[in-house]
Amino acid sequence: MSRLWSDHVAGLSPYVPGEQVKLDNLLKLNTNEHPFGPSPKALEAIRQAATDDLRLYPSYSAQELRDAVAHNHGVKANNVFLGNGSDEVLAHVFSALFLRGVRPVLLPDITYSFYTTYCSYFGVPADIVPLREDFTLNVQDYVRKRSLPPAGIIFANPNAPTGIPLSLEDIETILAANPDTTVVVDEAYVDFGGTSSVSLLEKYDNLVVIQTMSKSRALAGLRVGYALASADIIQALERVKDSFNSYPMDTIAQVGAVASLKDTEYFERQCQAVIDAREQLRADLEQLGFEILPSKANFLMATHPKHSAAGIQQALREQGILVRHFRQPRIEQYLRITVGSPEQCARLCNSLRQILGQGA
Ligand SMILES: *Cc1c(COP(=O)(O)O)cnc(C)c1O
Repeated sequence: MSRLWSDHVAGLSPYVPGEQVKLDNLLKLNTNEHPFGPSPKALEAIRQAATDDLRLYPSYSAQELRDAVAHNHGVKANNVFLGNGSDEVLAHVFSALFLRGVRPVLLPDITYSFYTTYCSYFGVPADIVPLREDFTLNVQDYVRKRSLPPAGIIFANPNAPTGIPLSLEDIETILAANPDTTVVVDEAYVDFGGTSSVSLLEKYDNLVVIQTMSKSRALAGLRVGYALASADIIQALERVKDSFNSYPMDTIAQVGAVASLKDTEYFERQCQAVIDAREQLRADLEQLGFEILPSKANFLMATHPKHSAAGIQQALREQGILVRHFRQPRIEQYLRITVGSPEQCARLCNSLRQILGQGA
């Protein structure tokens, strides 16, 4: 431990991302990246922006991108908050909305692990609510009256790493029962068959919807995420952002993201291609004896009754295929497998057939 560190650094629990290794013939199915590239129009816009104008600061308000996001979701520009990836947006949400004294934040036991990382970073008390045995979220757990109203409720829909979606009726029940609590719905995977809560924004001023361009728009490398919420909440987020980094959206990210948002046809076609590949992969894995959670995301959470998840992961790794394994109670016998292209999924299944045949 360094003698020069700030007091809180040793106590942090940093997020652990899926590994990003570079190997020949590597098949990366461990971080939910998109198997197909971004819109060619986005790539062209990015190339066009690589000029001497990069000596200038980017547009401070990122107005064009803000307008494009607003247009895309049928909200006003003052309902949009932009960030350098949705992880940054989430950090500002914690800082701007969840630091409410001893009031806790409620979240499921199995969900995106960055939420508890931010709880520890910001010193927010986390009230962890176990999902049901089948990994579905029991809305009654979030409706029950508590002595202290929570500062926030946060979950992903579809959830990660299970892929299980929650219905809009259930989300509305949570919103209506918690008017003095900010409810954050992280929709990183919603474009692969889930239902967005954006339509509830009109009725509930305690709702924050978070989306990212990293997954369904195949732009993880560009780092663009955003929150949609009431103008009042957006104002809080802007105040925090401008106290930290007032230029998180670089020029390249702004133009690339705008061009991607405008290319609806490409976007819808590629989302459908991933959905089709997912359903084929589900059928193929079931053939191999896997049990799969009902995912509406671009990944499948799979367990095999006869083989250990850690063993399968290691055997796949030796064949140059990476999948994600969480050493965490309740899901240690599961593998989270990103849906690749049909060819990539076929390679995965061939390797699995061989591995399971040998008894991993
Ligand atoms: C990938 C992911 C994010 C982060 O996305 P970035 O925009 O790339 O930071 C946020 N939430 C969930 C649930 C994710 O899976």
